[in-house]
Amino acid sequence: MTADRPKDFIRDIIDADLAAGRHQKVVTRFPPEPNGYLHIGHAKSICLNFGIARDYGGVCHLRFDDTNPTTENVEYADAIMGDVRWLGFDWGDKLFYASDYYERLFELAVELIEKGLAYVCDLNEEQISDYRGTVTEPGRPSPFRDRSVAENLDLFRRMRAGEFPDGSRVLRAKIDMASPNMKLRDPLLYRIKHAHHYRSGDRWCIYPLYDFAHPLSDALEGITHSICTLEFENNRDIYDWLVEHLTLPARPHQYEFARLNLTYTVMSKRKLLQLVEEKRVHGWDDPRMPTLAGLRRRGVTPEALRAFATRVGVAKNNSTVELALFEHTLREDLNERSPRVLCVLDPLEVVIENYPEGQTETLEASFWPHDVPKEGSRKLPFGRRVYIDRSDFSENPPKDFFRLAPGREVRLRHAYVIRCERVVKDAAGTVTQLVCSYDPATRGGDAGARKVKGTIHWVSAEHAVDVEVRLYDRLFQVEMPGAAGSDPLADLNPGSLVTRAGCKAEPSLGAAAAGDRFQFEREGFFFVDPVASRAGAPVFNRTVGLKDSWAKAVQKAEPKAEARPAKPATPGPARAREALSPEAQALADRHGLSPEDARVLSEPGPLRKLFEAALALHANARGLAAWVVNELPAEARAGNPLPFGAPELAELVALIDDGTLSGALGKKVLAEMLTSGGSPKAIAERQGLKQIADPAALGPVVEQILAKNPDTVARYRSGNKNVLGALTGMVLKETRGQANPKLVTQLLLDKLG
Ligand code: ATP
Ligand code: MG
Repeated sequence: MTADRPKDFIRDIIDADLAAGRHQKVVTRFPPEPNGYLHIGHAKSICLNFGIARDYGGVCHLRFDDTNPTTENVEYADAIMGDVRWLGFDWGDKLFYASDYYERLFELAVELIEKGLAYVCDLNEEQISDYRGTVTEPGRPSPFRDRSVAENLDLFRRMRAGEFPDGSRVLRAKIDMASPNMKLRDPLLYRIKHAHHYRSGDRWCIYPLYDFAHPLSDALEGITHSICTLEFENNRDIYDWLVEHLTLPARPHQYEFARLNLTYTVMSKRKLLQLVEEKRVHGWDDPRMPTLAGLRRRGVTPEALRAFATRVGVAKNNSTVELALFEHTLREDLNERSPRVLCVLDPLEVVIENYPEGQTETLEASFWPHDVPKEGSRKLPFGRRVYIDRSDFSENPPKDFFRLAPGREVRLRHAYVIRCERVVKDAAGTVTQLVCSYDPATRGGDAGARKVKGTIHWVSAEHAVDVEVRLYDRLFQVEMPGAAGSDPLADLNPGSLVTRAGCKAEPSLGAAAAGDRFQFEREGFFFVDPVASRAGAPVFNRTVGLKDSWAKAVQKAEPKAEARPAKPATPGPARAREALSPEAQALADRHGLSPEDARVLSEPGPLRKLFEAALALHANARGLAAWVVNELPAEARAGNPLPFGAPELAELVALIDDGTLSGALGKKVLAEMLTSGGSPKAIAERQGLKQIADPAALGPVVEQILAKNPDTVARYRSGNKNVLGALTGMVLKETRGQANPKLVTQLLLDKLG
């Protein structure tokens, strides 16, 4: 395995398909909807789809999935094309638009109708959802389900002709109203929307829905592997149903992978749009945004994004990757391309009293540290007055402070050792100047035999250029913005941007041009803002600081590694998930908790307390953790008192563990506990809630349901095993959720033979 040629389960599938001769050439696609800017999550999908095409000598199409006229526009489409190119990928002449297929899609819908597989339904949105049933209950057929082919064709053509108002009718596939997969309960294919489309104009007033347009666009383009994120897993059945029932040039397959989630980040387009519209940020390209436009303007490179996508890998299970891993990857990339320069962000004047007035000299200073094999240097002017950073001086230094303090010595980078002789203050007691002396024998920073621990950065006052620096930090101040069901925008970090004017930069930076990158020594990586900078007046964006919490966390997690490699080992997806805080990791190890639960419970607070107190009473840590983390309302996390305590929680989990209550019944009991408190045992008895796990008691109910649903039984017997879920649901409903679901399924299987 090499970094260029990653291995993952999707590539395994492709290898097998090629080996078996199912395909000769791999065709993938990246299908954005032009309703917003691309973000770092999309970058993962782009790297995967275009990366596969590159690795297998295939092609990747860029297809705009533009089937919603009210949210899409050209600005977004153009920005998306620019972003994909910037990331380093090229679709050649394979640029497509779902909106170009409208006529073909219409014909395919007609084919479905003619085959008796689609119908026009007059139910409104609310009725459709009502008829659809629930997870445990099958749906009911729409009263319009048995319209004749002729009537359906007529109505569908009239929908297209604009005879009906928005929302009055839809076209639906006729699949299975009792399917355990709710998506198959006659999904919507077309809706009426009298709206102008940014490409097709006013030609259409009916628009295909994603579930219809997507698989058929894939088939029309000859896509071989249609890769999407996990939330479309249940849509795959519709995908397959459509491509199997229609006459199409190709038979594509859908595969799902885990979407990228990052801590301290929101990636919902809706939320990003809200940030822009409410002016919480300065536009889509605000350097704090996770958009590619924002990341680019912050100074992130396409190489770093691609390396990150590779490092995160392609997983089948959703997880959240630490933002620190991204920052770590970014530093690795920037380290190799950013010359080291000096810039003082918070200047404090230093006068070197034994340096001759009016004299200046120039010092040779390399742009590169020893471990970056590059050449290049500049001349740094040095004189009697210099600036250092205010934070590098302390009047009353703590023990481990190795920088400048009264009577102490420090090395000025590339220059001399200086010593602080006196401190000058203003009337308010603020330090305004340091009077120092220098040792001429230490030119170039060579302190000789004596010990000088600290080295600080500085700039000659006479030669410094004033620059503006924008210190960007994380946009959100909590790991999981909005995790507790609250508005993520309430978790914005008020310190996400600090603008500093009057920073003192070394003279070479006066010529910095838009797009240049530097490392300001001891401060971080900076990028010359391409929008705000003017010739001779660069504005520097902090891309990322120097402190690497990821590398530290990795080192901590591997304390016994004998010979640590120079760089931390490349963390894969598993590592990304493991990067828990030490407390969370300890909790996970001690009790076998999932990382998610451990993360929540490691936080000191009411949930943690409740969990521990309950654990002392009932020794099922995983069970307790699941209830505490997943089932308690958001307010509990915030510390609002619950109407019950640890003893009741422990009792509830005990009732589930001993089989008295099923999970579903447990939730009912908990709901009551949350409103009026009290013992779960008493609540369950009062409400007559008790899991029925006795075959003798359940048998008759099962018989009764089977007798009442001869059609469903017939469908099962003719091979549609999917209806089993629906039948189970009916039995559960009949017993008010009290039946043990596993036993019900077992009994059904016995009786159906
Ligand atoms: P929405 O559909 O809600 O507008 P979206 O983020 O899915 O938002 P699309 O333009 O449809 O936006 O996404 C294009 C492609 O990018 C899809 O194939 C989608 O699965 C993929 N994608 C979107 N978000 C992520 C993510 N966080 N990680 C990986 N892939 C993603
Ligand atoms: Mg989408």
